[in-house]
Amino acid sequence: MRKPPTVIILLGPPGAGKGTQAARLSAALNIPAISTGEMLRQAAKSKSETGKLVQSIMASGQLVSDELINRVVADRLQQGDCQGGCILDGYPRTVPQARFLDTLLNRLGLPEPVVFNFDVALEKIVHRLSRRRQCPKCGAIFSLNRNAESLRCEYDETLLLQRADDNPVAVRRRLEVYQATFADLVGFYRTRNYHQIDGARPPEVISQELLGLLVRPTPARAAVATYAAAAMAHAGA
Ligand code: AMP
Repeated sequence: MRKPPTVIILLGPPGAGKGTQAARLSAALNIPAISTGEMLRQAAKSKSETGKLVQSIMASGQLVSDELINRVVADRLQQGDCQGGCILDGYPRTVPQARFLDTLLNRLGLPEPVVFNFDVALEKIVHRLSRRRQCPKCGAIFSLNRNAESLRCEYDETLLLQRADDNPVAVRRRLEVYQATFADLVGFYRTRNYHQIDGARPPEVISQELLGLLVRPTPARAAVATYAAAAMAHAGA
């Protein structure tokens, strides 16, 4: 049986656990996790003018323009691996981006998104971000709390790094930017397929809740969740 496409949007402040849940949902649902932050970090490595501009905007904790990020997302969603849907981590971040996404999904014949908004207290976020480390090779995210014994990636042994924008000044700026934009974005999605998620709980508990929520409200989603639960059980998650 071919499972119906599903599009999931993960909203929430930096450090809310969106990346971790995106990876877990991607494995369970067999659809790509698309992190716009990750795509921009790759673009920033290039020596082109756009690469340099992106690099300086990200380092300051500001958002890149809607026009640029919409173009990046439109290109990515047209790739073949998104035919079954995708998980969007870090996009949309503004109402114009959300409007653009609605039009894009419609044009590509993809369904209405399911929106999970992660709620985590700000003190916890700052604490988490100061301990967050990332594998520069495979992109996996670790917390020094959980993996205190190792500063190497548990998948490929690469030395873990702290993201340039996880420094205290950029973190403060990113949280300010988030707070200035999130109310409008939540207002945009609140009356749709929208779920508020307590992001302070262990990752595996949150994943189970998200997969459970995908069961509702349509039979098509039930098929997706059944498929995902079977995949997770198989993977021993
Ligand atoms: P993230 O990894 O999601 O925290 O994103 C890192 C940085 O990439 C952000 O602080 C922004 O500078 C930029 N960025 C990521 N996604 C977007 C977006 N949807 N709109 C504008 N800027 C973005």
